[in-house]
Amino acid sequence: MSAYRDRTAWLLGGAALCIHPPSVVTRARRIVLVGPPGVGKTTQAALLSGALGACPLSTGDLFRSAHRYAIPPGSAMAEAEDAMQHGRLVPDDIVISAVRDRTRCLQCSGGFLLDGFPRTVPQAISLDTLLTERGIHLDAVFGYVLPDDLLVERLSDRRICPRCHTSYHLRQQPPRQAGHCDHCGGPLRQRADDRPSAIRERLRAEEEAAAGVRSHYARSGLLIAIAAEGTPQEVLERSLAALTSHVPAALGKVALPTPGAPTRSSD
Ligand code: AMP
Repeated sequence: MSAYRDRTAWLLGGAALCIHPPSVVTRARRIVLVGPPGVGKTTQAALLSGALGACPLSTGDLFRSAHRYAIPPGSAMAEAEDAMQHGRLVPDDIVISAVRDRTRCLQCSGGFLLDGFPRTVPQAISLDTLLTERGIHLDAVFGYVLPDDLLVERLSDRRICPRCHTSYHLRQQPPRQAGHCDHCGGPLRQRADDRPSAIRERLRAEEEAAAGVRSHYARSGLLIAIAAEGTPQEVLERSLAALTSHVPAALGKVALPTPGAPTRSSD
């Protein structure tokens, strides 16, 4: 099962269509990935996408990719970009409206892996409403957990390719040629919000909101806590095992992606 998804509909919103629609899947998975910045949500979303066929949908990618288009000063996207660059959360109304504009992605026959949304309780309630209105049910919410010192280390060593969103880790998952993307040769960059001052601000700002989101999904019985220590492949295997036991007989046989393959996108 290919992990590649162009996600045009998600990144552009509105009436935009994906160039490569999802391949046929036996059973579409609808999963939310929550956890602090640096815990590896985007890496897991890409690996789970390879195993389950569902499309990885990151609100962080959505806001970052807006940069490629002209953003009118004073617009919601300009406000989102400013919040991101200063390590703050984007205001709920902007995030919710952006996701609402992409509801078609939540209805996609391939399923979805929501990465980085919802991040606050109002966002979680809006997502519940959006899904209920359309008769869509979540399979599970994976809550990834990792000690703070490991989070800071992972974030400061992370590099991304701004062209194709592939993510690297200087020690655990380095590019073949230092400073260049294995896929497209693009110059690797450190995200503005992965610099130490912004990292501390992000972790502080996000934990309070994240605790509320975890409780929200714990109450609905959807939350599965997953330890994020170890290699991406180990965490993937833990996630798939958790899904199998949480949703018995739902998973069937899944093909695990090749260990060590770089993952697309940026967490
Ligand atoms: P991520 O790539 O998920 O780490 O997101 C990068 C940045 O985008 C965050 O630090 C926030 O500034 C912003 N962002 C992404 N998703 C959300 C969200 N659901 N709510 C608020 N801000 C968000």
